[in-house]
Amino acid sequence: MTVAEWIPIATARLEQAGIASPRLEAQLLASHVLLVDRTYILTHPEVELNELAAETLIQRRESQEPLAYILGFREFYGRRFRVDPSVLIPRQETELLIEEALKLPETLRVLDIGTGSGCIAITLKLERPDWDVWAVDISGAALQVARENAETLGAEITFRHSDLFSGLEGEKFDLILSNPPYIGVEEPLPEEVRNHEPATALFADNHGLDIYQQLAATHRDYLTEEGTIILEIGQTQGAAVAQLFNGQILKDLSGNDRVVVACLI
Ligand code: GLN
Repeated sequence: MTVAEWIPIATARLEQAGIASPRLEAQLLASHVLLVDRTYILTHPEVELNELAAETLIQRRESQEPLAYILGFREFYGRRFRVDPSVLIPRQETELLIEEALKLPETLRVLDIGTGSGCIAITLKLERPDWDVWAVDISGAALQVARENAETLGAEITFRHSDLFSGLEGEKFDLILSNPPYIGVEEPLPEEVRNHEPATALFADNHGLDIYQQLAATHRDYLTEEGTIILEIGQTQGAAVAQLFNGQILKDLSGNDRVVVACLI
C-alpha cells in the first residue's frame, strides 16, 4: 500500500479512536515506519509502506498509547528529547519554567528536581552554557533517559540519584526548579496519561500538594541567600503553593495558573 492510500484509512481509524489530530498523527506514524520526516511523507505520496509495521503502530495508538512513546521522542523548547514509559512526556506548559529561569541574569548554580527526561535541566544548560546545572530524580530508569538526552544534545549536567534533596547534603543552589508530580490520585485524567505515563511522575498525596509541602519544609537549606525557586503547579493549586513558598503565581498561555516563583529574601 502506498502512503497516499494508507493515510486516509489511518486517519479515519485514529479519529474513531478519539485522537484529537488524527491526520497529523497518521502522517507521523507513517514517517516513523519509513524512518523519514513528515515533509518526506507529504512530498512522496507514492512511496510503499510496510503495512505490517504500520498496522502495529496504529493499533498501539488506537489503544491510547501516547504518540511520543510510539515515536520515541517529543520536542521541548525546539529540541528533540528521547522518551520512554519511564519518563513523563515533556509538556509545552513546562516551557514557562524555562522562560522564567532565563530572565535571571547571573551565572547560576541550578538544580532541577525530578528531571525525568531531563528536558528542563538540559534546555537550561544549552541556553546558558555558563550555568552549573544539576539534575536529580528518584527513578534510576528516568535518570538513564536524562543522561542519554544530555549526551545526545551535548549538555554537561551533574546527575544524582536522589529523592528530592536526600542525595544533596551540603550543596547550595541559586536556582531550584521542579515540575513535580502534582496530580491528586482522585483527579480525572485521560486514559492516555493515567494508563501509560509513570505514576511516580504524575501523582502526589494531599490532593497533589505533598511534594510542594516537602519542598517547602526543606528547600531553604539548599538555596543560596538570594536564591530563587520556580515550580510548575496544577491550575487549581496556585493559592496553596504560593502561600507555602510566599511566592508569586504566573499563568500559562491558556490563562491557567501554571507556575509559582519565590525568592528567599
Ligand atoms: N522534569 C520533567 C518534565 O518537566 C519530568 C517531570 C515529572 O516527571 N514530574 O517533563
